[in-house]
Amino acid sequence: MKKWLVSIAAITVMCFLTACGNDQVNGDGKEKIQVTTTTGQVADVVKNIGKDKVEVVSLMGPGVDPHLYQASQGDIQKLNQADLIFYNGLHLEGKMNEIFEKMSNDKQTVAVADSIPETMLLRTKDSNAHDPHVWFDIQAWIHTIDSVEKELTKISPENESFFQENALAYEKELQELDQYAKEQIATIPEESRVLVTAHDAFGYFGHAYGLEVMGLQGLSTDSEYGLKDVQGLVDILVERNIKAVFIESSISEKSIQAVVEGAKKQKHEVVIGGELFSDAMGEEGTEEGTYAGMFKHNVDTIVSALK
Ligand code: ZN
Repeated sequence: MKKWLVSIAAITVMCFLTACGNDQVNGDGKEKIQVTTTTGQVADVVKNIGKDKVEVVSLMGPGVDPHLYQASQGDIQKLNQADLIFYNGLHLEGKMNEIFEKMSNDKQTVAVADSIPETMLLRTKDSNAHDPHVWFDIQAWIHTIDSVEKELTKISPENESFFQENALAYEKELQELDQYAKEQIATIPEESRVLVTAHDAFGYFGHAYGLEVMGLQGLSTDSEYGLKDVQGLVDILVERNIKAVFIESSISEKSIQAVVEGAKKQKHEVVIGGELFSDAMGEEGTEEGTYAGMFKHNVDTIVSALK
């Protein structure tokens, strides 16, 4: 009997120490900060700064289109359980605004894009709204690091220097990535620095690294595109002798295929230069499942198709 009690006690202690196999506690045996994010890009910032002090759940996995994404009942639960919610903002998550507004009444709900100076934000030609795809300008995206570091420190002030150190290391990694992108894109002949994709996700990328960017759909995949848009893009491809267009991991290939077909009819051969990660990152556990990895993949794909 006693022996039995002792083993129950031992199991209880073990469970306490290891949280019974789940990793809710960090290296110090303290409970992790529960963070829920929308996109993988935002999750990447939080993971890199919070490391083992945070448990990050990202709602939007590989191939998911944030413009059209609607929160499920399970998502609402994940948002409710979080100590902190980080999302992109600037209406990227167009169908979730109401939820964030509601949640912000009793929870710290942070749009990371709000930390980027307005002078670094781009507007579109046809609307007065800001372009939400801010993660494609590394110098702008680096500002989100400060915001995440600050929010984590508010919840866990004893880890201030830990977060600070991680933030510095992450910033250094992104600065190197920025440098890499600049050097690589510069190897494409100037007249070929034109990036044609399914939707306007690469405005910041083009602005930062010196490429002209054309998308078939507008800033949000919510907008319709018509035959006229396809024809307009085809004409440009033929006129400028552009040899490659790109598909996006979170958008159907159909629209960009129509452009390739259209060019063919005009006897201009255009190839699909590869798949770019625009609004979603790659599979978790692969290199493209990290922000730096997917960014590098995009740069390398663009360079090898246009060079
Ligand atoms: Zn987009």
